[in-house]
Amino acid sequence: MESGADLLTFGMGERSVKEVAQRLQNGQKASEIRDVRGTCYLIPTKEYEPGPAVDCPSFEQVQKSKKEYAVSCRKQQDEQDAFRGRRVLQKHGSMLLVQNPPALPLSQKELDAVYELPYMRTYHPMYEKEGGVPAIQEVEFSITQNRGCFGACNFCSLAFHQGRYVTSRSEESILKEAKLLTTLPNFKGYIHDVGGPTANFRHPSCLKQEKDGLCPGPKKCLAPTPCPALQVDHSEYLDILRKIRALPKVKKVFIRSGIRFDYLMADPDDSFFRELVKYHVSGQLKVAPEHCVPEVLDAMGKPHIESFLRFQKKYFALCREYGKEQYLVPYMMSSHPGSTLKDAVELALFLKKQHLRPEQVQDFYPTPGTIATCMYYTGLNPWTMKPVYVTKNPKEKAMQRALLQYFEPHLQREVIAALKAAGRPDLIGDGSQFLVRPTPEMRREQAMKKAENNRESDENESRSFFKHQSQTKRTNGKRGHHHYENRKH
Ligand code: SF4
Repeated sequence: MESGADLLTFGMGERSVKEVAQRLQNGQKASEIRDVRGTCYLIPTKEYEPGPAVDCPSFEQVQKSKKEYAVSCRKQQDEQDAFRGRRVLQKHGSMLLVQNPPALPLSQKELDAVYELPYMRTYHPMYEKEGGVPAIQEVEFSITQNRGCFGACNFCSLAFHQGRYVTSRSEESILKEAKLLTTLPNFKGYIHDVGGPTANFRHPSCLKQEKDGLCPGPKKCLAPTPCPALQVDHSEYLDILRKIRALPKVKKVFIRSGIRFDYLMADPDDSFFRELVKYHVSGQLKVAPEHCVPEVLDAMGKPHIESFLRFQKKYFALCREYGKEQYLVPYMMSSHPGSTLKDAVELALFLKKQHLRPEQVQDFYPTPGTIATCMYYTGLNPWTMKPVYVTKNPKEKAMQRALLQYFEPHLQREVIAALKAAGRPDLIGDGSQFLVRPTPEMRREQAMKKAENNRESDENESRSFFKHQSQTKRTNGKRGHHHYENRKH
């Protein structure tokens, strides 16, 4: 509404941009283009020609009611499927906002063509005078092998712009790019990544999708447990990695994109897992369990933690078998809708027990186009319409975040405050069973309290002794005297 545009494109855009450009070239006005997939437009409601579409609550309704907002979010999410999605409509006063269905995914040939364009493969020269862009090192020798992600975690907007349908580049195209990388002046023999949104996806998650699309609603291909229809196969990806490894001038091929460990564990053939550990980890493998409490993982749309534990066990067993000193870098998130301070304490205890020390922690913040953002704003789970706990309090967010790095000395005070607020002061102390040591002030306070308690108990003791003595004197003076003498000795 605010953009004032005649037409907006969404998604990855290659098809829609090309189609719109061709129509403009043919003399059609942007304001007349109504039927291109992957575009949105605004039209006076009375001019709209009805067709298969889903009506969202109006803008005025969602502005007034969080419940209506959640309904609107659910309807939009459900239609973001290139194969079965319908138009999404929303009234804004007398105007109607129309979102056409997403563009169809690119075929493998088309995706290859996109990645084989003559890119400059570096940052814009305008940054040169500022000393360049250091982040280029991360991506300079990385290859994108796929697009889309059927993981569809609730906090990730990727399902909205790339979609859940997974497509991938051909082996030839990937090898061509790998060979090109070996010719670049900065190439030192290392290919840093062969991945994508999720490194180890290469195919749609099941066979029905080109006809029926991916399942609508909260049903996910991998969470909380893998769907029985899931097709798990790493053989093609493994073949590609083997061929890149064998290229002249290539010393190492790493995988730095996230590995979906539950998908990996669902593969009865562990050849890929073995070669991943043996050849493709540059010291640390990134994985994203995100949390450990089942209710929080459900709110995130992630698998329960048991699958991570199975994966972790096998990962370290394979590292031992191949004589590799390699680690896991677990991505964890604090304050996701559904996560209470007590849940964050549980997560801290889990990390301690598993000897996991996240170097970075992501504190949830709302990003457009996600189920989690809808939960954050409305306090409702749009799939179930049930209330979800949400913290927006900066103090609590800081405490949840600190708990995930409870071992960092600079977070000690925050962690102590969090444990007290969560009713878990029993986790503050010296020793391996505690999460955090007391601060010097706490120690001084404890020492003073102890001294005061000792003084009080001494005073009480002597008070009760004299009371007893005066009573016994009154009743049996002699015995009282002996008792006093004995005590003195
Ligand atoms: S049937 Fe299973 S694997 Fe296929 S789209 Fe639905 S949830 Fe995913």
